[in-house]
Amino acid sequence: MNIEHLKTDILILGAGGAGLFAALHAQKANPDLDITVVSKGLLGKCGCTRMVQGGYNVALNPGDSVERHFMDTIEGGKWLPHQELAWTLVTKAIERVQELENEIGCFFDRNPDGTLHGKAFAGQTFDRTVHKGDLTGIEIINRLMEQVWARPVRRLEEHRAVALIPSPDGALSGVLLIDVRSGKFRFIAAQAVLLATGGGPTMYRYHTPSGDKSMDGLAMALRLGLPLRDMEMVQFHPTGLLAGPDTRMTGTVLEEGLRGAGGHLLNGAMHRFMADYDDKLERATRDVVSRAIDAEMRAGRTTKNGGVYIKMGHLGPANVAKLFKGMVDRCRDCGFDLAGGLVEVVPTAHYFMGGVVCEVDTTTERHGLFVAGEDASGMHGANRLGGNGVANSTVFGGIAGDVMPRWIAANPGFRPPDPQLLDAELARAQHPFSRKAGDLNALREKLLDTMWDEVGVVRDRASIGRGIAGINAIEAELLETGVTGDNRHFNVTWHDWLNLRSLCEVSRVIALAAAKRENSRGAHFRSDFPEPGDLATSAFTVARQSASGIEMTERPVEFTRVKPGQTLLAIAAE
Ligand SMILES: Cc1cc2nc3c(=O)[nH]c(=O)nc-3n(C[C@H](O)[C@H](O)[C@H](O)COP(=O)(O)OP(=O)(O)OC[C@H]3O[C@@H](n4cnc5c(N)ncnc54)[C@H](O)[C@@H]3O)c2cc1C
Repeated sequence: MNIEHLKTDILILGAGGAGLFAALHAQKANPDLDITVVSKGLLGKCGCTRMVQGGYNVALNPGDSVERHFMDTIEGGKWLPHQELAWTLVTKAIERVQELENEIGCFFDRNPDGTLHGKAFAGQTFDRTVHKGDLTGIEIINRLMEQVWARPVRRLEEHRAVALIPSPDGALSGVLLIDVRSGKFRFIAAQAVLLATGGGPTMYRYHTPSGDKSMDGLAMALRLGLPLRDMEMVQFHPTGLLAGPDTRMTGTVLEEGLRGAGGHLLNGAMHRFMADYDDKLERATRDVVSRAIDAEMRAGRTTKNGGVYIKMGHLGPANVAKLFKGMVDRCRDCGFDLAGGLVEVVPTAHYFMGGVVCEVDTTTERHGLFVAGEDASGMHGANRLGGNGVANSTVFGGIAGDVMPRWIAANPGFRPPDPQLLDAELARAQHPFSRKAGDLNALREKLLDTMWDEVGVVRDRASIGRGIAGINAIEAELLETGVTGDNRHFNVTWHDWLNLRSLCEVSRVIALAAAKRENSRGAHFRSDFPEPGDLATSAFTVARQSASGIEMTERPVEFTRVKPGQTLLAIAAE
């Protein structure tokens, strides 16, 4: 097979908040390094950072504190977060937001006194979500993109990473890519590689992430034998738009600020049901509200399309239209009046808390490989607070950009790829060309339903077992299903096939982790184990793939800053 070999000092996989921040920081730290950013889509037009609606959590207000933000993160994460990662997230977020405004060129909404406006987000004890209306991500990603364009950073757009290739000594050598436009393979050797492909649980019937995300990063990390943490933790956002099966708008998120601002949820019988589930009503955390909606749906108390309603009109239609212009426009496009009427919503898979085990400095177990953003794990534990996602990607992307040049200075040199593994990955990526074409979409639909029905908002042993059997059958059928002809140029069917393979691999790990956790924490709810278990002996799941299959273990959470029953606020006040 004819493959092009290239070299770069730092190779960044992903052009979201994590990848672009890493590129800018690395270029600043050592302008002599050659830096390459690879993205499956077009720069500025792909990934989820640009889709951020609500905003960015940061403790800037004098009435707020990093300790408060930290406690909200730990309690929201049901005591499963890695506390040093969470502490780094909340403390560095301040620096990063200032950098976004003062160096990158973002301009967020302000209070009359000129300070940054913080909006209310569910599950937080302070209104600390900084934003630009409800289109915050476009502001962030456009400005980041301009800064990257202005620097000598190589961009490989519409390039798909398919495998992380080690050298024979085990250290990372580089990455195998497909140039989507030409269909050609490229192997890029790099001294340091950042994995920042942004997770994205798009294997569920209803989901919010961008279409270019199919868990490729985690599938690649799994095949490299890296440990993956908290893989059972799929966050469902309670209010995905439900506009029928014929539009891709179904599943897209209506932001949390709607509930934060006082929106009501009504079932098909027009009953405001949240009072039946939680004292915080619609401002309960995402997991609680998603389960309440799921219960209403399972009981058949649904709207025409099978979900529930969100109602905002009682807050004043003009006010709603002003505060949530983007949402109101989007709903109007789908035939709903958000400002004054009712909009059908359904829980939708939104964010993936699981990911590669990493250290605070973004290093991983594998020499030469770093991870940041939604591909990394441990910051959020069992639940990510709305507003902590983009903070996570920008904070740790920046850290990776600071650390990689120093790491290269201490560990210089390129490492040769293991030729057998490179050949095996090349063959693997071309597998569908050796099979007869089949109905890939039918397989995708089966996977969406299997994950939604069996490993979704509520799980139990039997449903997870059915889920695993279903995923295995879908993957087996996929391996016998090919794509038509041998045209590699912009062959979207080939890429659909590869997406589906990554999704099957990661879905299986989600199901195995869900089976391993025999309690209910945050986003993971087992109807056969509905209690959270003893917080003091909290453990997180770790999955690792070896030649004999996927091994699931549990490791104890280290309470390095605060133990269950304590609070940093009380300690600070003492
Ligand atoms: C609709 C929506 C609204 C959200 N709202 C908020 C919010 O209000 N506040 C908040 O904090 N968080 C929010 N989030 C979450 C937030 O967007 C993410 O947590 C964060 O932006 C992830 O950043 P990232 O850099 O890790 O990944 P992304 O920004 O998703 O970027 C991933 C990049 O990886 C590339 N990629 C993927 N696969 C490959 C591959 N195989 N090869 C090469 N490149 C690849 C993609 O093309 C993309 O460039 C929202 C998410 C969604 C979907």
